[in-house]
Amino acid sequence: SAKRSGRNKFCFYSRQLTESANERLMLESELRRAIERKELELYYQPKVRLEDGALIGSEALLRWKHRQRGVVSPDKFIGIAEDSGLIVEIGEWVLHEACRVACAWNGAGKPLHKVAINLSARQFQTGDLVRTLRGVLEATGCYPEWIELEITESLLLDEESEVLEMLKAFRSLGISIAIDDFGTGYSALSYLARFPIDTLKIDQSFIRNVTTDRYSAELVKAIVTIAHCLEYQVVAEGVETEEQAAFLKTHGCEIAQGYLYGRPMPQQEFECLPLSFNETI
Ligand code: C2E
Ligand code: MG
Ligand code: MG
Ligand code: MG
Repeated sequence: SAKRSGRNKFCFYSRQLTESANERLMLESELRRAIERKELELYYQPKVRLEDGALIGSEALLRWKHRQRGVVSPDKFIGIAEDSGLIVEIGEWVLHEACRVACAWNGAGKPLHKVAINLSARQFQTGDLVRTLRGVLEATGCYPEWIELEITESLLLDEESEVLEMLKAFRSLGISIAIDDFGTGYSALSYLARFPIDTLKIDQSFIRNVTTDRYSAELVKAIVTIAHCLEYQVVAEGVETEEQAAFLKTHGCEIAQGYLYGRPMPQQEFECLPLSFNETI
């Protein structure tokens, strides 16, 4: 009967819910051991200056190499790490590792190569982030100019914490700050001008259709204009085609990042990239 199948359905859904809750719990307990088991690794994705195709930096992106599950993507575990508070410890590991690599890629006659590091809002809530980062710079010998911090728009709306003070502290150390996934959050333009920001990263959802959809194109042009009015640099995320790159270059976007130039890759592989993408693409 209908009633019966309805009940079965209910059982089915509730079992699914339980399974995904269990799954989360399992991932959380495994993530707890991931650092000591050395299962975490940073991959690096190239950032390219559109004007001349020069490789000018990278974004560090976390990968979890699980013994049974293989490579777990950040979309599967960053949320769990944030909810459980594990992101604080993991984030500290990320900072340390990215700064260590930034040292290898900068200094002694090498052109400036900024390594961008993603930060979660949760890391700002501990209140220790400035001290932690200063400690990491000291321990690794990394210069503040060699790194950039990527934060999301929602962080700027957090009135409770001392986000503004912390960002100013990073700034005064000489660290630059980028707003990630710009255009997908609250887009509170009034906040933008109040915060010490160096770079806007246009979210890949706008770039995806930039050459096929008039509205995406107009939005991207508008974002570039606003960014430049506020004297921010613009990075486009998710650039996959030459047409997209050409559009962005024409409309004054300075930097591009995306599969067109390379997927996130291990440090050793990154070190084999050419210093200019002019001739290779
Ligand atoms: P995000 O910071 O916006 O990073 C960009 C994401 O877009 C990366 O996904 C990258 O692989 C992907 N991407 C880059 N170019 C293209 C492209 O041309 N096409 C498409 N379809 N995708 C592209 P990934 O590595 O899976 O990371 C997902 C998110 O996880 C990141 O988004 C970031 O929010 C978070 N995340 C990654 N590593 C860390 C970390 O160390 N700490 C924190 N707190 N979050 C991280
Ligand atoms: Mg990012
Ligand atoms: Mg992004
Ligand atoms: Mg993102």
